[in-house]
Amino acid sequence: MDNDYGYVDGNAAAGPLQELLAVEATTVEGQCTSCGRTSMLADTRVYFGGPGLVMRCRGCGAELLSLVTTPTTTRLDVSGLTCLTFPLEA
Ligand SMILES: [Zn+2]
Repeated sequence: MDNDYGYVDGNAAAGPLQELLAVEATTVEGQCTSCGRTSMLADTRVYFGGPGLVMRCRGCGAELLSLVTTPTTTRLDVSGLTCLTFPLEA
């Protein structure tokens, strides 16, 4: 531990997060915050327009996530998802 408080800084999560985020994104399962429907991200509705895309739930139409890219950043808002489940390779 870096300190006596039982935690280390966020850099310690870099390896696990990098490994997790390298998966085929459409196979990741997400649960809709609005209706609770769980599905692979491939089983959603995607709308393009403006500076990015919006992914909506097939069950209730709520926004699950948005992805916006500017010349200097990419912003991923996943506030419409309660959780994401990543498949592990067998
Ligand atoms: Zn929904």
